[in-house]
Amino acid sequence: MTIRAGLVGLGKIARDQHLPAIAQVDGIDLVAVASRNAQGDGVNNYPDLGAMLAGESQLDAVILCQPPQVRYAAARQALLAGKHVFLEKPPGATVSEVDALTALAKAQGVTLYASWHSRYAAAVAQAKAWMADRTVERISIQWREDVRHWHPGQPWIWEAGGFGVFDPGINALSILTEIVAEPITVLSADLEVPSNKQAPIGATLSMATASGAPIDTVFDWRQTGPQTWDIAVEAKNGSLLLSEGGNTLRLDGEVQMKAPDEEYPTMYRRFVDLVAAGAIDADTAPLRLVADAFLCGRHCPTAAFED
Ligand code: NAP
Repeated sequence: MTIRAGLVGLGKIARDQHLPAIAQVDGIDLVAVASRNAQGDGVNNYPDLGAMLAGESQLDAVILCQPPQVRYAAARQALLAGKHVFLEKPPGATVSEVDALTALAKAQGVTLYASWHSRYAAAVAQAKAWMADRTVERISIQWREDVRHWHPGQPWIWEAGGFGVFDPGINALSILTEIVAEPITVLSADLEVPSNKQAPIGATLSMATASGAPIDTVFDWRQTGPQTWDIAVEAKNGSLLLSEGGNTLRLDGEVQMKAPDEEYPTMYRRFVDLVAAGAIDADTAPLRLVADAFLCGRHCPTAAFED
């Protein structure tokens, strides 16, 4: 069976990644788009999800690419209509939303997929296998990028529920919670919030694995010049560096793998498999770490920021 899918929120990530990935993956076709200000080519277009559900009686699945603040209501609407749901990351604005969606998907007997694209970066599986055989002594995460370059004209990202620098930072946490087998706890956090915004522009988190290895984390949106998406692991017998957001792997300083980005096609293959199996994949581990940073973090006001 080929999944007939409708996409909601035709913005940057939908155009950059979802449309090309769906076009190249077998087992799923895009038949409709619901977006208030944009139209998809070669599909039926609707102003919102309600109109799309009413107009597309044959739709099997709904892909939600809007900002996190509005995703819960849309996901509920789609699940209640009996559709499988693919959630962009983060899967909700709060942990309780995602738990409620998981319960609803189970009750409806449909697939819910909380996609964490960075987990499908080329070198993550190999890094996870390397970690499984070793005792971790220290982890250091540096996720530094230029918000003006990556998120121009996205006011929602600075509003409550928009995550601020945790919007990219949660990608690092999604890799971290994939490659570390133990539970991870947040010990403390500093959140730098510009005086004219609701969400942080910088954050430092002190975390630890259950067996006590420290995890020092810096998320910063003020980085111009070269951008940094690195996770470094020191183990008893060796070191690992995942860079380029998980697409390059160095072991003991030697490059092992440097592969092109295949994250979204891989996620769509996973979604097709989940629907075929009637399964749910809605891990909230990265979202819980962000929630904990907001719960225990010190709020440090910082200079106003203009996009
Ligand atoms: P975006 O460019 O702002 O697009 C989101 C789209 O959602 C908008 O174009 C808008 O389309 C629609 N929308 C519906 N309700 C909205 C509302 N209340 N406020 C604003 N837009 C609304 O954002 P994006 O970069 O694609 O990010 C969307 C999601 O994808 C986020 O959760 C983000 O974390 C995730 N993501 C983004 C990237 C990236 O590189 N940008 C990478 C991976 C994941 P209409 O106005 O036409 O309805």
